[in-house]
Amino acid sequence: MDPLDAVVFDLDDTLYPERQFVRGALEEAARQVLPEFPGAGEVFRAVLASEGFSRVFDLGLERLHLPRTEARIRALVEAYRGHRPRLRLYRGVRDLLAVLRERGVGLALLTQGRPEVQWRKIEALGIRDLFDVLEVAGPEEAKPDPGPFRRVARCLGAAGRGIGMVGDSPSRDFPAADALGWRTVRVRLPGAFHRDDPDPDPGRLEARSIRALRRILESWSNGPGDHAGSRPVHGLGDRAWTDVARQP
Ligand SMILES: [Mg+2]
Repeated sequence: MDPLDAVVFDLDDTLYPERQFVRGALEEAARQVLPEFPGAGEVFRAVLASEGFSRVFDLGLERLHLPRTEARIRALVEAYRGHRPRLRLYRGVRDLLAVLRERGVGLALLTQGRPEVQWRKIEALGIRDLFDVLEVAGPEEAKPDPGPFRRVARCLGAAGRGIGMVGDSPSRDFPAADALGWRTVRVRLPGAFHRDDPDPDPGRLEARSIRALRRILESWSNGPGDHAGSRPVHGLGDRAWTDVARQP
C-alpha cells in the first residue's frame, strides 16, 4: 500500500461542531444589537434550526416583529463575525492527531472563510500547535479553489496518494483533492450542516464517527515511527504559516 505522508483536515464540522460556533455567535449578536429583546437569541436559534443559516437574521427580525433595516442587519452581522467563540473539539480528535503525528504523518489544517473569524476559531480550540501547516483561505480563494490545496501540499512536501483529505462538504472539500489524486474520506457527524449534501462520487469513503475516521486513517498509515523525521515539512522554521500575512 502507498505510504501516507500527510493528512489535510478541514475545520468546521470536521474537527468540531460548527453549530457550536453559530449558536454562540447568534446569541452574541442578539445580546449586542437587541439588548431590549432578551429572547432574540433564542428566536435566531429557532430560525437556524428550522430554516437553516442563510436568512437567519431576516427571518428572526420578522418573527420578532422588528423592521429589517440595513443598519440593524449590518450590526447583527458585524457582532456575529466579531464573536469570540468558546469551542470544543469532537471527542477523540486530539488523540487522533497525536497518533498520526507519532507515526510521522504530516498534519495540515485547511479551512476557508473570513480569516479573522477562522483564526479566532483556531485559537479558541487551542489547535494551532497540533498542525505542521495551517492554511486559511479567504473568500477570494474559497474552496473548492485548488490554489490553497496546492499550497498545502507544497508546504507538506507531499503529493498525490501520499496525502489524505478529511472533510465534511462534498462540494468544497473534495473536488480539488480528487483532481490532485489525494485519498479522501468524508466525515458525516450528527448535527453537521452538510451531512446530507449529495456527493458526485458515490464510492467515497465515509466515517460517521471520529472513531471510524481513526480506523480509516490508521489503516492508511503504517506503524508508529514508520518514517518519522524522514519527511521534511517546508515552511517558515518548524511550521508553515501559509497565510502568515493575514494572521491577526
Ligand atoms: Mg467543513
